[in-house]
Amino acid sequence: MLSSYSDEWNREVEDLIDLHSHTHFSDGTSSPEELIGDALTANLEALSITDHDTFEGYERAVPIARTAGLKLIRGIELSTRYNGASVHLLGYFISLEPSPDFLFWLSQLQETRRERNRKLIDKLRQYGIEMTLEEVEKKGRSLTGRPHFAQVMVEKGYVPDMETAFQEYLDESARAYVQRQDPQLSQSIARVRQAGGIPSVAHPVRIFRNDYDKVEALIREMIPHGLTALEAYHSDHKQGDVRHYLEVAHRYGLAVTGGSDFHGANKPRIQLGTGAGNLAIPHQVLDDLMAAQ
Ligand code: AMP
Ligand code: ZN
Ligand code: FE
Ligand code: FE
Repeated sequence: MLSSYSDEWNREVEDLIDLHSHTHFSDGTSSPEELIGDALTANLEALSITDHDTFEGYERAVPIARTAGLKLIRGIELSTRYNGASVHLLGYFISLEPSPDFLFWLSQLQETRRERNRKLIDKLRQYGIEMTLEEVEKKGRSLTGRPHFAQVMVEKGYVPDMETAFQEYLDESARAYVQRQDPQLSQSIARVRQAGGIPSVAHPVRIFRNDYDKVEALIREMIPHGLTALEAYHSDHKQGDVRHYLEVAHRYGLAVTGGSDFHGANKPRIQLGTGAGNLAIPHQVLDDLMAAQ
């Protein structure tokens, strides 16, 4: 499987795909219409919408993609915990609809997010930053996250930009951070599998500051829990990281996923399909992922 992929940046490759993107139903800024438009402009063969904790953006995009002749894959991104670290998990539902059990579990996760958001409002108020839950939720549609808090803080003039909002208040290490009750990684992997999905550990370079040994130990430990894939291609991955994680996936018999993690204007240096200019993900990745199901 490994030999069929190239980690070289190759503009000549056709049939490109992007399996990691966000709409404004989570923390992106593009509507499903705009995202599909961008996918067509980027000449993508297939796109996965992987919003945090919600399928709403995907569901709205289905008829648009069908009309446009774009292959659209249902995806989701979940924030989980592993040994105290935050780990993002992608779930792909290529041939099966998620089970009602899974949808109920998602609604519970959304509730923990609302609870975190209420606490965050209170904590920000302690630092003289006033906003209401309604104001933030208006930005976030079905899912309200920290980027929406940052947007409101910028608009109200409390901080010059979103980056400062994170650095001073919202980051895990910043003063107003409120920890959410995230599910365990192992449990989340099992949930995705039981629901008919393919779990993939997202952007491994962001786990344990990209300590290769610690990340590999995590992967090894998660395989008995049902881990199926690893996101080897990502906008944050340097060429050496791509090569490394392709090799790790191969060694453990995992499939590979990849995507730009496009967030629209919330992360302006990342383009759909090409990421920070370092991505060209071949359609073969999707074919192999389907075979791994
Ligand atoms: P939440 O799921 O509400 O905890 O928000 C997490 C989201 O906040 C991530 O998916 C990122 O999009 C965004 N985020 C986290 N850290 C930063 C940062 N330092 N700068 C900008 N955005 C960030
Ligand atoms: Zn995001
Ligand atoms: Fe993520
Ligand atoms: Fe993401």
